[in-house]
Amino acid sequence: ASTRPYNFSAGPACLPLPVLEQAAAEMCDWQGSGMGVMEMSHRGPQFGAILAQAERDLRALAGVPDEFAILFMQGGALAANALIPLNLAHRGRVDVAVTGSWSAKSADEAARYALVQRVVDTRAEGYLDIPAPDSWALRDDVDYVHLCSNETIDGVEFQDLPNLRALGCEAPLVVDCSSNQLSRRFDWSRIGLAFGGAQKNIGPAGLTLVYVRRDLLQPALAACPTAFSLERVARENSMFNTPPTYAIYIAGLVFAWGLQFRWNGLQGLEALEAHNRDKAALLYAALDDSNLFENRVSSAVRSRMNIPFFLREPGLTDTFLAQAAQATPVGLLQLKGHKSKGGCRASLYNAMPLAGVQALVDFMQDFERRHG
Ligand code: PMP
Repeated sequence: ASTRPYNFSAGPACLPLPVLEQAAAEMCDWQGSGMGVMEMSHRGPQFGAILAQAERDLRALAGVPDEFAILFMQGGALAANALIPLNLAHRGRVDVAVTGSWSAKSADEAARYALVQRVVDTRAEGYLDIPAPDSWALRDDVDYVHLCSNETIDGVEFQDLPNLRALGCEAPLVVDCSSNQLSRRFDWSRIGLAFGGAQKNIGPAGLTLVYVRRDLLQPALAACPTAFSLERVARENSMFNTPPTYAIYIAGLVFAWGLQFRWNGLQGLEALEAHNRDKAALLYAALDDSNLFENRVSSAVRSRMNIPFFLREPGLTDTFLAQAAQATPVGLLQLKGHKSKGGCRASLYNAMPLAGVQALVDFMQDFERRHG
């Protein structure tokens, strides 16, 4: 068994150890080429093969239909918050469902380029629940409807994406899936465009995935930087300019790892999803049983990926975090909550094993016995 600590960071986050080991082994010489991946031309045959394989494996793993282009971009999800209206908001009207801190940021950024209506906004209630989409004030003449499928800070997750067409809205759905892409199956028939930074379930920060239905690829607004024109980047197969080559290589190793991942007789995305469900259930059960720790999110929308929790005696939080990092036999790292919320947060991305969650639960119960 590994003696590496369990790393609960919200992102950049833990990656599968076999991926890190393979990358280390190939650091100076990728497959006999005499070059490390960082040293290769992005237009050479070796990197061309790495990119093509990464895209094939991602498409297979996430079940992305052929009618979607997959773009390997840069700038993170916050840049996407700008480039999406710059590409799609030709009528200048955007609806946003504000269900947490990240969708709130998306609404603010889109408002620089379009008239934004917040079709729902749960800020005043502390982002603890998601009102049913049939109660949202959707308009039918908007360029798109934006939501965040998993709010990384607040720990609320759409268990199913809304079917806008069934709600009488023909606009495409735009999904910020930064923190739950590849953690569960998405119904792509409900999505127009999805995007996410790589630094949670996929690989190094710097790489940003954009999944866009090809019929939405239109010339961008004039103000859009060409490097952020989805139509242009798609036409150039993510090679309009130098893509983040090393991050794409690591992502490719993660996709290959995901395709082989097995859990309870399942393989690939279904196995990852079942594993994530089991991990989250274990931690939520421990939180709900505890007299010291609590999670406040409505049970129907609790995130499987990011679980914020608080100590009922807030003065013990720093002690808890410090002791967790020193836990034996291995430490439990990066459990501090987001600075806007305080408390603690455990992120249970694909690379976090069930044994890591069990170690956290055991430590919490031991801490509660000592301090409860
Ligand atoms: N959206 C979500 C859901 C996120 O989790 C994050 C980062 N934690 C962002 C947007 C911002 O991403 P980036 O820092 O890559 O721009």
